[in-house]
Amino acid sequence: MRRMEDNGEATGITCGFELGPIRPPSEAYSLLIRATRNCPWNKCLFCHCYKDTQFSLRSVEDIEREIDAASDMRNRIVEASHTLGYGGNVQLAAAALLGQSCDDACLRNVALFLYGGGQSVFLQDSNTLIMRTPDLVHVLRHLNDAFPGLSRVTSYSRSHTAAHKTLEELKLIRDAGLVRIHMGLETGYDALLEYMQKGTTSEQQISSGQKLNAAGFSLSEYVMPGLGGKAMAQGHVRETTRVLNAINPAFIRLRSLHVVPTMPLWERVQDGSFELQSEDDVVGEIRDMVAGLEVTSQFKSDHILNLLMEVEGTLPQDKDRMLAIIDEYLALPDEERLNFQLGRRMGLYDSMANMAESGRHDRVAAAIRGIRERGDDVETVVRRLKDRFI
Ligand code: SF4
Repeated sequence: MRRMEDNGEATGITCGFELGPIRPPSEAYSLLIRATRNCPWNKCLFCHCYKDTQFSLRSVEDIEREIDAASDMRNRIVEASHTLGYGGNVQLAAAALLGQSCDDACLRNVALFLYGGGQSVFLQDSNTLIMRTPDLVHVLRHLNDAFPGLSRVTSYSRSHTAAHKTLEELKLIRDAGLVRIHMGLETGYDALLEYMQKGTTSEQQISSGQKLNAAGFSLSEYVMPGLGGKAMAQGHVRETTRVLNAINPAFIRLRSLHVVPTMPLWERVQDGSFELQSEDDVVGEIRDMVAGLEVTSQFKSDHILNLLMEVEGTLPQDKDRMLAIIDEYLALPDEERLNFQLGRRMGLYDSMANMAESGRHDRVAAAIRGIRERGDDVETVVRRLKDRFI
């Protein structure tokens, strides 16, 4: 069997399109097409993704040329699956490419997309709905022509932007093939939205969410437990639950707050004007939110910053099971909760069941002893470990 060369020479594949910096965790196997660059708002205190960058629209021609470049790479990997001894198995050929030390990020992205089944595309960057509706429709049609049989094309949108599209425009975009919108709701508490400079209101979140539902989108709302800090925690939970109940999105996804120096919020943490919630406080917030939800949504905890990633399910039927997981954690003795927090951030635990494995549990307990012997504080070490996930 011949090897697919790292530099793409054997397949003739070379880098040919721009990649933006982020995508949602659930789009790990999606082809990434950069429809716009950076964030047109770029003011949220808890966000550092696009700081020191300038937003720009891209021309339809440029986007479509890059879709064609990705399609060309796809075709060549498919061809290589026949000519390089993989018996026409595209996933096998893509896996072989990913297993090599290929530093062409575009090629790796196309290979990952094919390895994942070649079914989904994510349009980057932070707010694709800001494109003129006819331009976005054109791009979506071109994308579906270039990649026939896609089951999912998704993108981020701000609620402020979605609120300014008419229902007819949104339906046109949905009909052209954009299936899911990932929306950073973060909180439904107006005082906190203002404090964090999110640039929207709960009323706008509800109206845009309901409109996206009516247009037929699968709406995925990201919520940020911990965002209210100590001072606004209660309002954050109460109002976020209210807004989610009013929208009833297809997905509710958690991405817990973690503050690093590159975020504007960092200074407020340092000067003491914003007091962070503890890990256990955040778990308590999630408990109260789940208890108050009256929706028929998929509830997901698929971001690595979340502590209890097993709190997932379909509401309302899985609510009691999800609450029982949270209660089991909160009922642990203090030292065991600390053991779980550190073990999760060390990558030793995925779920609380992992704590029953004495080998893992003992390693974490030994790490806690070592931290204390050095005179360090375990919570501080946990925070430093979480910095790696940003
Ligand atoms: S709108 Fe989104 S991408 Fe832009 S600054 Fe706010 S959180 Fe960051």
